[in-house]
Amino acid sequence: MLFEKAPAKINLTLDVLHKRDDGYHEVNMIMTTVDLYDRMSFEVLDHDEIVVESENRFVPDNEHNLAYQAAQLFKRKQGITQGVKIGIDKQIPVAAGLAGGSSDAAATLRGLNRLFETNLTYEQLEALAEEIGSDVPFCIKGGTQLAQGRGEKLTSISQLPPCYVVIAKPNIGVSTKDVYKQVDVAQMNHPDTQAMIEALDAQDFDGVCNQLNNVLEPITVNMHEEIAQIKERMEKAGAPGVLMSGSGPTVYTLVQQEAKAERIYNSLKGFCHDVYVVHALRSS
Ligand code: ATP
Repeated sequence: MLFEKAPAKINLTLDVLHKRDDGYHEVNMIMTTVDLYDRMSFEVLDHDEIVVESENRFVPDNEHNLAYQAAQLFKRKQGITQGVKIGIDKQIPVAAGLAGGSSDAAATLRGLNRLFETNLTYEQLEALAEEIGSDVPFCIKGGTQLAQGRGEKLTSISQLPPCYVVIAKPNIGVSTKDVYKQVDVAQMNHPDTQAMIEALDAQDFDGVCNQLNNVLEPITVNMHEEIAQIKERMEKAGAPGVLMSGSGPTVYTLVQQEAKAERIYNSLKGFCHDVYVVHALRSS
């Protein structure tokens, strides 16, 4: 048996430039992985089958699971006829905007590459990842990256300055598709992606907080008022910059002082079920 960690990601920026002819949206996103992980295990089976096991009832145990799809693709492309058993100890909230499913898929590609000793490079794994979903290539290496195109064009950039990331997920799930359906590029307050890259280069914590911006936030907030309530609680507790991640509904803030991180955590604990204090991760 072999193990892999599948970390969650947060968006520092998320911009939608336009809708493409192929139906995807052209995006510009800065994302970073954090130390909130699903723990995954991989085991070879003698017979040609993919088995997915998870105790979380929201995680599909069939071909709808992105980890299943990753295993299927990997086996087909590598001509592997043995089966594989995938265990998912789910720690990342589901349908949260934290790319839990995408990260499980990426971890599956990394895990099977080790399990079957196929020695694929990160670039080759990213090319496979692109066939599974737009956020999966980013999750292969993680760290802080700029993702362009539909998310598959990746550039590693300076990482987040050291800080605590307080994450809170309201007790609702959001469908990414439903949010993107409402995107109107002309009506958006677009992030200054270049200014965020410069703030990261300068390790300017306040600059990073000032540039946090996600064009999907007003759309999801409009659907679920709980998100605005969490943002307000965080701000009241002294949070310097608060943003929704991905298509939501998860909200986070970046904090430098441990005492402040604790204060924000405590102000949210009774209000929503899933609250975490974590750190950003470096890329592998
Ligand atoms: P993103 O930020 O990439 O849009 P998300 O964090 O909002 O993703 P996920 O947690 O990946 O959302 O789950 C969205 C849906 O995908 C779930 O409702 C579930 O049915 C399905 N799904 C497929 N594979 C997985 C997986 N490995 N873990 C969790 N959900 C999965």
